[in-house]
Amino acid sequence: MTDTVSFGYHDVAPDEKTRRVGGVFSSVAARYDLMNDAMSGGMHRLWKDRFVRRVQPRAGEAILDMAGGTGDIAFRLARSGAAVTVADINPAMLEVGIDRARRPGRVSGSLVWTGANAETLTFPDRFFDAYTIAFGIRNVTDIPAALREAHRVLRRGGRFFCLEFSTTQWPGFAEIYDAYSHNVVPRVGELLAGDADSYRYLVESIRRFPDMPRFEAMIAEAGFVRTAVEPMLGGLVAIHSGWKI
Ligand code: SAM
Repeated sequence: MTDTVSFGYHDVAPDEKTRRVGGVFSSVAARYDLMNDAMSGGMHRLWKDRFVRRVQPRAGEAILDMAGGTGDIAFRLARSGAAVTVADINPAMLEVGIDRARRPGRVSGSLVWTGANAETLTFPDRFFDAYTIAFGIRNVTDIPAALREAHRVLRRGGRFFCLEFSTTQWPGFAEIYDAYSHNVVPRVGELLAGDADSYRYLVESIRRFPDMPRFEAMIAEAGFVRTAVEPMLGGLVAIHSGWKI
């Protein structure tokens, strides 16, 4: 890995990024779900629904939802009857998820929650049928290492799916979104969560994330084949996928 990595618009030592990202998610955990609705006008729910439809989870499959946070993806996956492992580096995010799983009406029978760093997984080789990561990969310090680990823990024929913000190609929309995210998002973060800085980081980290062709190439470099990208809103959000053979 290089000497420095981006923490939003700042270049910092890798350890410092991991520590600071930890601080961000510990700070926002309690308000994370509310803020997602507020910032996206509820649209993150539609993106997540579409993402899980693409994964096509099936009963009896073993699926790893990496950087699963408060469980939004895992709850959707579990409805299929798949056995879902929700892994995240941040205990505060997992605690909120475990709490949500206990609420009445939640399909969470086949969910297992565990602390894990995406870069250094302790699961055996070829263990999972599918690996999902939603809005998590851009927060990981060593992204190539996390992609290699995703590849290692998937069985042959296993599938990789990543939902992440990217760069919209729609003329005009990019400028509007840029102004919204830099000006409005940190203010809403301050208002609803008392934390403008964390939301400033989340916006800046989107800008620093590789564009769709570059990220697709990184997925291929990790060993995945038949890689594909499905842009939404011109690429504001994208589903990247690949197969292990
Ligand atoms: N997947 C959830 C969702 O879509 O709502 C949560 C996404 S949240 C924006 C990003 C998550 O990535 C946080 O819960 C954070 O703790 C986790 N994360 C960041 N770096 C990680 C790492 N190296 N390994 C595992 N999880 C990580």
